[in-house]
Amino acid sequence: MPIATTIATTIATSIAQPRRLASPRTPPRSVATCLALALSIAVLFSATLSTAALADTSIVMLGTGTPVPDGERAGSGVAVIHDGEAYLFDVGPGVVERASQAQERLGIEALAPVNIERLFLTHLHSDHVLDYPELLGTYWWRREQPISVVGPVGTETMSQGVYTMLSEDTNTRLADKSPVTNPAAARALVTEIEQEGLVHESPGISIHAFGVTHGDWEQAYGYKVITDDLTLVISGDTSLSEEVRRQASGADVLIHEVISRQGWEQLSPQWQAYHQYAHTLSDELAELAREARPGTLVLTHVLHYSAPRDSVLDEVRADYDGRVLLPDDLDVIE
Ligand SMILES: [Zn+2]
Ligand SMILES: [Zn+2]
Repeated sequence: MPIATTIATTIATSIAQPRRLASPRTPPRSVATCLALALSIAVLFSATLSTAALADTSIVMLGTGTPVPDGERAGSGVAVIHDGEAYLFDVGPGVVERASQAQERLGIEALAPVNIERLFLTHLHSDHVLDYPELLGTYWWRREQPISVVGPVGTETMSQGVYTMLSEDTNTRLADKSPVTNPAAARALVTEIEQEGLVHESPGISIHAFGVTHGDWEQAYGYKVITDDLTLVISGDTSLSEEVRRQASGADVLIHEVISRQGWEQLSPQWQAYHQYAHTLSDELAELAREARPGTLVLTHVLHYSAPRDSVLDEVRADYDGRVLLPDDLDVIE
């Protein structure tokens, strides 16, 4: 991204007024804002200052929902904004609209759908991928670059299905008089994960995939994102996982799925068995957090059923004294 664009993003982000949930390991917002503005001004007068010096990682919760329909929550989606670039993790139903809202309301230009160039999928459950056609199809004719997608085996087949779904649109736009910036942007550049480990690296950021246990999925992944100012672990959907605990040990932020024990206890035995097999109960997550001690534990993908959603926060806090957040869609964690 050009330096000027990076500066514009930095300033726009600084003046927005979203609900921001600061991580305790980052400087207070006022200090961070002053620093970012000072650096931005410095860059204006010094072309030699590296853009890496502007790196300031933010996490935008685009979708905090589950498969349970919820008018207030999109499906799963977390965006990491680093150095003016967006790294999107999962693209559940409604996530692309939330990304547009993040651009419009929070001034995060990297989250204009046409600017999202990197997507990482944890697994292929519907609540994590239903907006994949939306992401590929929205304004693709204005895209400069195809989207790069990293995901489990099956991502390529799913992509082919989306191309088929959109083929009339794609062919017509390519044939008629509407300008198309880059015809190749109609398709994604898909990399299926063949082994755990490094899946992306660029200056100031590396992204690693690790296996988790999620029901009968042969491939379900969590991701560890390491930037020059933050280490973040995203659990994806998982039952209680020793690997997540290991990856999250000492991380600044752990974003973890959870099911409320209070809600779970009201379910039928069959559903109780499934959820224990596929997801992490609130007291299990508290136990994991006690061992891993992340700087901030962020609860998302909250399956609460008949219990109030907030009950999961009390349940985790009952057994864990660290910092725990329960964000809504569009909340920003810095
Ligand atoms: Zn799932
Ligand atoms: Zn899910």
